Amino acid sequence: MKKCTLPTVVKNVFYGIMLPMKYKHLFFDMDKTVAPSRQPILPEMFSLLSEAAQDIIIVSGQLCEKIAWQSNNLPAAYLGQNGNHAIGPDGIELWHTPLTDAEVADVMAHIAILAADLPEVPNPEYSPIENRGGQITFSPIGNTAPVELKAVYDPDASKRLAMLQKHPFESETMMVVIGGSTSFDYIPKTRHKGTNVQKYIDHMGWNKEECVYFGDGLYPGGNDEFVIGVIDTVAVTDHLDCYQKLQELLRD
Ligand SMILES: [Mg+2]
Repeated sequence: MKKCTLPTVVKNVFYGIMLPMKYKHLFFDMDKTVAPSRQPILPEMFSLLSEAAQDIIIVSGQLCEKIAWQSNNLPAAYLGQNGNHAIGPDGIELWHTPLTDAEVADVMAHIAILAADLPEVPNPEYSPIENRGGQITFSPIGNTAPVELKAVYDPDASKRLAMLQKHPFESETMMVVIGGSTSFDYIPKTRHKGTNVQKYIDHMGWNKEECVYFGDGLYPGGNDEFVIGVIDTVAVTDHLDCYQKLQELLRD
């Protein structure tokens, strides 16, 4: 039998009452979700997010200061370093959980193994290793390499996934995930985007059913994957796809 679907506008009107959108709190990854990788948010996305009635929360592997820069100081909560540094929408720091010396040592040893197997020595001018406090990020071509270089380095993450398959990272407390467009994010096994999104929801006293997360890294091994099962998720391919899906959701 042919399935009958009603247009959205009819679905949301029940006995003449407009039903409110299910989600009150919108969580987003930054690179390739809210904004192009390492580039500022587009004005259209800024308008859509800043005019939304819902709470906006950005969860990124980046430093909170970088989130502020990249989002053009979007009024939102910033969960930097995969949520290991949280700043509320009022600018007040909620928590910051740094790595221990032993965790840093584990990570640096693995980065040395990966770096030794690269076709070229990472260019130190492009900041290949960044210790951000609650997370260490390693980009074989450099975290601050030109955007054109970064765009073509490993667009489908296959290069980085192969590197990890060849050189698995073993640590009692730390793990590595594919982050951003060219990097490996080393984060604690118990403090990733999933647990930190949950921590923020608990801190705010919100209902998980009213939260949704948009991200381009929801695939296995991606840094958004941990949010799956914590709250609803929407997979996007890039910031343009995210804009379109967000518009649809806000229109519903
Ligand atoms: Mg991303």
